[in-house]
Amino acid sequence: MTTTPASSTPRIAIVGAGPGGLTCARILQLHGLTAAVYDLASGPDDRDQGGTLDLHPDDGQIALKEAGLLEEFLRLARPEGQEMRQYHAADATLRFHQQPVEHQLSAPEIDRGQLRNLLLSSLTPGTVRWNHALQCVNRAAGGTRTLHFANGAAVEADLVIGADGAWSKVRHALSSATPQYIGMTYLEAWFDDVDTRHPDIAELVGQGSAMAADGKRCLFAQRNSAGHIRVYVIQTDHADWLARAGLNSQDTEPIRALLLHRYRDWAPDLRRLLTDNDGPYIDRPLYALPVPHAWESDPTVTLLGDAAHLMPPLGVGVNLAMLDASELALAIAGHDAIADAVRAYEDKMLPRSHKMQAALDGAAAGLLSDETFDPHQSDIG
Ligand SMILES: Cc1cc2nc3c(=O)[nH]c(=O)nc-3n(C[C@H](O)[C@H](O)[C@H](O)COP(=O)(O)OP(=O)(O)OC[C@H]3O[C@@H](n4cnc5c(N)ncnc54)[C@H](O)[C@@H]3O)c2cc1C
Repeated sequence: MTTTPASSTPRIAIVGAGPGGLTCARILQLHGLTAAVYDLASGPDDRDQGGTLDLHPDDGQIALKEAGLLEEFLRLARPEGQEMRQYHAADATLRFHQQPVEHQLSAPEIDRGQLRNLLLSSLTPGTVRWNHALQCVNRAAGGTRTLHFANGAAVEADLVIGADGAWSKVRHALSSATPQYIGMTYLEAWFDDVDTRHPDIAELVGQGSAMAADGKRCLFAQRNSAGHIRVYVIQTDHADWLARAGLNSQDTEPIRALLLHRYRDWAPDLRRLLTDNDGPYIDRPLYALPVPHAWESDPTVTLLGDAAHLMPPLGVGVNLAMLDASELALAIAGHDAIADAVRAYEDKMLPRSHKMQAALDGAAAGLLSDETFDPHQSDIG
């Protein structure tokens, strides 16, 4: 297999303009390398980017430092979002309350959309090619790879980086693993302009996160920037639980009725998190890759983030994706041959992610526990 020396400016194709792919492109560019990023979205504002994220000093913040964006992140981040409340499900009395101490930066929150914009605006214009939904990665003559996109484009690359998330198409070039349903769903509800329109909910949630669980179900609410609150209705059920009830996610009123029945023993103040939402619910059944997920190293393709190690969403996914991205970019910049860079990156990334995959395997069930919240074990944001 041909290996491409870094000095001949390798053609690097990153698939996925999520936090992992964009961080990787940014750090490569800071080291004088070029990379094109391909994403299936039609543009940066194509869809709602989802909730708030906390970036930790030992992974996400390290990557932002390498990307030269830590200070800007800290200007945007919400340290007050580290507040955590836990309520008794039956009567909505507070059972646990943790306020961040002054200057605490262990997990400052940022909206996903803000993080994406921060990374996007740091890239050389034209780096991201929107409307490029990858279909497959094939071997090309001379040991390189060809990427085939749904819009008909075909691109040759010396290294393909799969940063294309849970349902990665790049992954097929390395592994036959597919994500498996973990038996839990997050049904997402959101509230806009909460301080004016939903003052009771604003008061209940505070500046950070608030949760309650009864052993079978959980409600987890997170404040986002600009007066938004997102709530995850967390339940164990079939992946197609809505279809089994004869519903789809647009059936707002019948879903409300179903939830009110399921949460009938909960305090009225908490049940408002289920019913007062401003738009349709979004159903998010949870999937994870088999533990451990590994592949034979290939000098022309590698994976990072969810494409490499999709895990239950317990507050580490974005952090790991960005750390992977940073380490891969630095390895490429620091090695003469791409093959050595890929191997050095995977030698570090795979054991780390296997450890985390094993630790989180089955851990999402802990969110349903009616015991007092342990901030070190149960974290969505
Ligand atoms: C409900 C929920 C809540 C979560 N909360 C948190 C949290 O609070 N903290 C945390 O750290 N993690 C959280 N996670 C996990 C986190 O979202 C992921 O781990 C993280 O986004 C992974 O980043 P990534 O860059 O690897 O992939 P992604 O963010 O998934 O980005 C992948 C990109 O690839 C693009 N793409 C996909 N397929 C193709 C294709 N075929 N062709 C071209 N482009 C493609 C997508 O459009 C996307 O832009 C949560 C996950 C869920 C489901």
